[in-house]
Formats: sequence, structure tokens, C-alpha cells
Amino acid sequence: MSGNKRKKQKEQIRWDRLGIAVLLFIGTILLLAFLLSRIFPRDEAANDRAPSYVEKRLLTKNEYSRPGNALGSVKNIVIHYVANPGTSAEANRNYFENLRKNANNPQGVKASSHFIVGLNGEVVQCVPLTEIAYANYPRNEDTVSIEVCHPDETGKFNDETYRTVVKLTADLLKIYGLTADDVIRHYDVSGKECPKFYVEHEDAWTALKEDIRTELDAKD
Ligand SMILES: [Zn+2]
Repeated sequence: MSGNKRKKQKEQIRWDRLGIAVLLFIGTILLLAFLLSRIFPRDEAANDRAPSYVEKRLLTKNEYSRPGNALGSVKNIVIHYVANPGTSAEANRNYFENLRKNANNPQGVKASSHFIVGLNGEVVQCVPLTEIAYANYPRNEDTVSIEVCHPDETGKFNDETYRTVVKLTADLLKIYGLTADDVIRHYDVSGKECPKFYVEHEDAWTALKEDIRTELDAKD
């Protein structure tokens, strides 16, 4: 073997080693990135403790419906009605989403909700449970909000919607270590006639809370 060939072979080995070192380096970085992303999730949404049956359709962060401010210690779950008969959870979610577009929101309305329960009993989540929503002013910082769709002007929930409201509310109470007494109406926060039917019919509100209490008790 000529000296030249040997030199080339040596060079080849050097390049091979360098290649392996680079691959090991990249592999280590990727592994570290993976481990760090598990320990410190990039998006707060990853820390969200919402029940698994909830469909996450989180809003784009924006000052009108998802400001990204941290939610404090949760004291109450607040029930609302969407006040727009026959509309779907999806349509109400999109309304919140579009508030960030000036053409849709020239008045600068701020509104959103953590959850919307639809007419088929489905649940759409708009804001992660790590952030405030704009529904319960001046209690946005320590409450979780549930907007509820309804078929007509009375604001009464249909059976499927009602069942999901009971289930979702009980699950949230369990998550936060709260009781059925900690479920309140928007009316109880600000005096607004919301959720209409359950403000006008105190007996229906009491019954709803009792159904939530029963559901929660069954979980223990
Ligand atoms: Zn309300």
C-alpha cells in the first residue's frame, strides 16, 4: 500500500468517526428536546385537565377572546346560555374566534367561554383551563365558564344538552375539589339574566344543581 493510499484511508476513518459523532450529537439533542418538552410543555394547553370527551377547538390567542392570562385558583363553575336559539356549539365557538378580526368586531367586544355545550350534547372547548375566558366579568380570574346552546327563545336546555351540562359540570367540580354549591349562574355573578330559563325558573335551577350533586356523589 502506498503512503498516499494509507493517508486517504486514515482520512476516510477520520470522516467516518466525525459522521458518527455528529449523528450521536444530533441524537442527544433530539432526546434532550423530547425529554424537556415532556417536563416543560410548550403550550399551556398540554397542562389542561379537561375531560377526555371534550373536543378541543382552542381559539387563536387574541385580546378579544383568548388573552392568554393565567387562570387563578378556581372557586366557581359558571353556567350561561348562548342567547341565540338553535345555534350550534361550533357556530358559537367561531363567533368567539372571529372577534379577533376587526371587520367582524368593530366595537371591540370581548367574549369567550372555556366550554360550549351543543344541541346534540357535544362539548367544544375554546380556552384551556390554564387561562381565563371572557365570560364572567368581574370574576374571570377565578371561575370556569360553560356556555350552553338551547333550541328556542325560552333558553331551556334540551335533554341531550342538559345531560352533558350535568356530566361536564360534575367532572369539573371533581377536578377542582368543589361541591355542587359552587355551581353558579352568570346571574349570580353580575345580575345578568343568564342562563335565562334558569333565572326565571328558580325551581329548574335548583333541580339542575341537584342533578349535578347526584352525578358528583356517584363519582366518589
Ligand atoms: Zn352569561
